[in-house]
Amino acid sequence: MDTSASACENEWARVLGRLKAEVGEAAYRSWLRPMSVARVDDGEAVIAAPTRFLRDWVATHYADRLLALWRAENQLVNSVSITVAVAPRGNGLDHSGAVNGESKNRGGSSPPFAEPAVSLEISDDKAQFSALDQRFTFENFVVGKPNELAHAAARRVAEACANSVHTVPFNPLFLYGGVGLGKTHLMHAVAWHVRRHAYDRKVIYLSAEKFMYQFIRALRFKSTMDFKEQFRSVDLLMIDDVQFISGKDSTQEEFFHTFNALVDQNRQIVISADKSPSDLEGLEERMRSRLGWGLVADLHPTTYELRLGILQSKAEQGGIRISQKVMEFLAHKITSNVRELEGALNRIIADMQLIGREVTLETAQELLRDLLRSCERRVTIDEIQRRVAEHFNIRLSEMTSERRARAVARPRQIAMYLAKQLTTRSLPEIGRKFGGRDHTTVMHAVRKIEELTLSDRALAEDVELLHRMLQA
Ligand code: ADP
Ligand code: MG
Repeated sequence: MDTSASACENEWARVLGRLKAEVGEAAYRSWLRPMSVARVDDGEAVIAAPTRFLRDWVATHYADRLLALWRAENQLVNSVSITVAVAPRGNGLDHSGAVNGESKNRGGSSPPFAEPAVSLEISDDKAQFSALDQRFTFENFVVGKPNELAHAAARRVAEACANSVHTVPFNPLFLYGGVGLGKTHLMHAVAWHVRRHAYDRKVIYLSAEKFMYQFIRALRFKSTMDFKEQFRSVDLLMIDDVQFISGKDSTQEEFFHTFNALVDQNRQIVISADKSPSDLEGLEERMRSRLGWGLVADLHPTTYELRLGILQSKAEQGGIRISQKVMEFLAHKITSNVRELEGALNRIIADMQLIGREVTLETAQELLRDLLRSCERRVTIDEIQRRVAEHFNIRLSEMTSERRARAVARPRQIAMYLAKQLTTRSLPEIGRKFGGRDHTTVMHAVRKIEELTLSDRALAEDVELLHRMLQA
C-alpha cells in the first residue's frame, strides 16, 4: 500500500512540527530541517538525510520520537528508516540500483539511495522494550554539582541491584529535570551496569510512551494477561518520561497496579520525568504521592564547569583535539542543555573532518551562528515559571493557580515580569500562559515589580538573580 505523495508530505510536516515543538528551534534547524520524507509504504516511513553524519545523528537522537509521532499520525506506520539520499548529480548517472535492490526509485519521485537505512521498528515480538544506547554508561557520564545527587542515587541503585544480596535502597528512584540533562543517560547506565555485573537480573527499560502503546495494544488484542506477565518477573523496571502517561486514565491505572505489585515484591523501580512528582500535571493524587515515596533527585541545569567538563570528555572519547578556546566558547554560549552542546561539538568535529584542520574560534563562531542566535532568545515562559517557582520554593502549579496569597502571588508577578523582559511574547500571550489571566493583570504585575525593585532591596536582588540565571 502506497500512501499518496501529498498525504505523506502532510504527515511528515505534522510529525516535524510536533518534534520541533519538543526539541526547540535550534535543534530543529540543525538536525531536522535538512531531512525530507522519501516515502511511506508497507508500514515503513522512509526519511532521507542529506549526509551520513546527519543520518546517524538523527537516527540516534530522534528515531524513537519520530516513530512515536508518526504512529500518532498514521497507525499503519510501524517503522521509520533513515537513509542517505545522494543528490542527483545531473550528469545522467543513475544511482537507483544502489543498495539491496532496496531503492528502485519507486514512482520515480523518491531520491535514489546509496546507503543502507538505519531503522528502528516496532514489530510484534521484538523491541517491546527500548534499546539501550551504548554510549550511555556511568563511565561516560560527567559528574558535576548539578547532577551529583542524581548520579549518586543511580549508582547506588545499580550497585544494589547487581549485588548478590538483593537490596532496594529507595523505591522508586525518581529522577527529574529539563530536557537533555542526562535522565535517559543515567537510566541506561544503570541498566548497563546491572547487565554487566549480574547478567541474570531481569531489567526492563522503556519509555512511558512505549508502555502506553503496549498496554493499549494489549487491551485491543485482549492480551492484558500477557502484558502483566512481562512485568511480573522483573527485578528492575525503569520507565522514562512518565510525564507522557499523565492524563491517560486507563494506562495510569495499569501503571499504578504494576508499580504497586513490584514495590510490594521489593523490586526496584526507576522513573524519570520532566517535573517533580508534585508538579506533574494530570496525575492522580495517589500516584503522585506514591512516586514521591522513595528518593526524588533532580538534575539541575548545567553550569559552565560541567559543560566544559562534558566537552573535554567527549572530545577525549572521540580522540579529537579541539583548542581550549573553542571549548570555552562553546561552554559559555551553549547553555540550554547537554544535547545541544553535543550537537554543537559534533558540528565542529564534522567540519574539522571535512576541511582536515583544527577549528579556530572564528570558524566556530561562524559555524554555530544560527545555533547561537536561537540560543540567545531561547528563554521560554515555561522555563521562567519553573525557575521562579524553584527559587521561591513554591509549586509550579501556583504559576497558573487562582490563589492570591502573597507567598504565591508575588513570585507569580515576578515570573510575569521576567516573561515580559526576557521573551518577545505579548501581554495577552503571557496572560494565557499564567492560567488564562487577562493582559491587564500582566501589565499590573510588570508595573508592580518595577516599582518594588526600586523600594525593596531583597526583592530587587531576587529579580536580578533570576534574570541572570535565566540568561546564563
Ligand atoms: P534527558 O533524558 O534528560 O532528556 P539525555 O540523557 O538524553 O537527556 O541526555 C542528552 C545527551 O546529553 C545525551 O547524549 C547524553 O549522553 C548527554 N549527557 C547529558 N548529561 C551528561 C553528562 N553529565 N555527561 C556526559 N554526557 C551527558
Ligand atoms: Mg530522555
